Amino acid sequence: MRVCIFGTGYVGLVTGTCLAEVGHDVVCVDIDAAKVDGLNNGIIPIYEPGLTPMVRANHAAGRLRFTTDAASGIAHGDIIFIAVGTPPDEDGSADLKYVLAVARTIGQHLQAPAVVVDKSTVPVGTADRVRAAIAGVLAERGADIAFDVVSNPEFLKEGAAVEDCMRPDRIVIGADSAAAIDKLKRLYAPFNRNHERIVAMDVRSAELTKYAANAMLATKISFMNEIANIAEQVGADVEMVRKGIGSDPRIGWHFIYPGAGYGGSCFPKDVQALAKTAQQYGVQPRLLDAVEAVNDAQKGHLFELLVRHYGSEAALRGKTVALWGLAFKPNTDDMREASSRRLLQQLWGAGAKVRAYDPEAMRETQRIFGGRDDLVLCDSANAALRGADALVVVTEWKQFRSPDFALLKASLADRAVFDGRNLYEPADIEAAGLAYYGIGRGRSL
Ligand code: NAD
Repeated sequence: MRVCIFGTGYVGLVTGTCLAEVGHDVVCVDIDAAKVDGLNNGIIPIYEPGLTPMVRANHAAGRLRFTTDAASGIAHGDIIFIAVGTPPDEDGSADLKYVLAVARTIGQHLQAPAVVVDKSTVPVGTADRVRAAIAGVLAERGADIAFDVVSNPEFLKEGAAVEDCMRPDRIVIGADSAAAIDKLKRLYAPFNRNHERIVAMDVRSAELTKYAANAMLATKISFMNEIANIAEQVGADVEMVRKGIGSDPRIGWHFIYPGAGYGGSCFPKDVQALAKTAQQYGVQPRLLDAVEAVNDAQKGHLFELLVRHYGSEAALRGKTVALWGLAFKPNTDDMREASSRRLLQQLWGAGAKVRAYDPEAMRETQRIFGGRDDLVLCDSANAALRGADALVVVTEWKQFRSPDFALLKASLADRAVFDGRNLYEPADIEAAGLAYYGIGRGRSL
């Protein structure tokens, strides 16, 4: 099928590539000319496992093309995806300016009937606004062209985006027209072979489903962080508590890891945007507000542990802290809303210097914070330890899981490890002669 995708970010690029991989004919449109140029030359702007070879192979096969020319993309697509960003507006609601700009562009260039698919995460009611924006421009042109607007939210996870897209848990399609649902079912048939994954519903339910999924996941994280904070004060180990509750199938093992707070481009903005929608409709979002507040406080928790260890914030002045992990989670280079950013600012605010390493996010760190003399970007985890007083682990990359404890002891002048993801056993670190601080591990009292 002939597909056009607006936006070549995490969602647009991965979706376009996976659709091409199963044989569809895909044109991706982006306004970022440098990104499009790079993609046409095999340069992939983001890190996602498995993505680069798949983009290159499908591009070489002619099934995946990149352009800044919206008109040609729209002329190509029987199905036109909107997969552009929906960043938070100043009041926390989703800013729809990119989505609605694409809708107007579609209105300008549409020549034949098409299904317009909203894949961006957008508040309930956005499909109506997209429909109105397209219809408004068509009317200005005096053009009478039929089109459907469908909600098809995306559930891929950064760090496993290709895998998620090729083997989705479910494919939610929200549409008012049976013909549109049918068309999307045909598009997704290659991903829906061994068992039924398509959940068809009305548009508004589909729009809300995406927010409900992210808000539920964020709630699990904030819940565990709150339990961790209680554990820390009462002298219990939250890792034991986690093992003690996860075996209950009603609770489950997933997403009950305490840590340094959730980040990324989705959970923070989606929880806030859903709370905003609730308020707009007269519902007080008590739980969502609490989820957000707990997370905000949790992002400052590692710094609190450092202050607790050193006795005061002033005692951090002149210290050098090794920081392992900058991305908001492993297997990505994405640092949007990452907990590391809060910690970096707090450390610099206290007059400490940072030696930082992340397996994939060094280029992004350089772009955001490059040029500071209180930040040294290191080319390995061990290099970050050189001349450092203490180590803080912020992102749970696999390669940080089994460090050489003797090397940590020999390298860290103040012999202290702050484990923001509970990667280590406190007893192992302490046996090596280092002080250990984890999240909710009782011993940090
Ligand atoms: P992104 O910021 O990585 O990419 C957005 C892209 O859209 C950019 O390349 C930008 O240049 C392009 N763009 C902006 N305006 C455009 C226009 N008028 N025409 C063509 N291209 C345009 O965003 P993302 O992370 O891929 O997220 C896209 C949407 O998907 C958001 O609503 C997000 O909430 C949602 N989502 C993201 C994830 C994720 O893990 N990143 C997962 C599920 C859903």
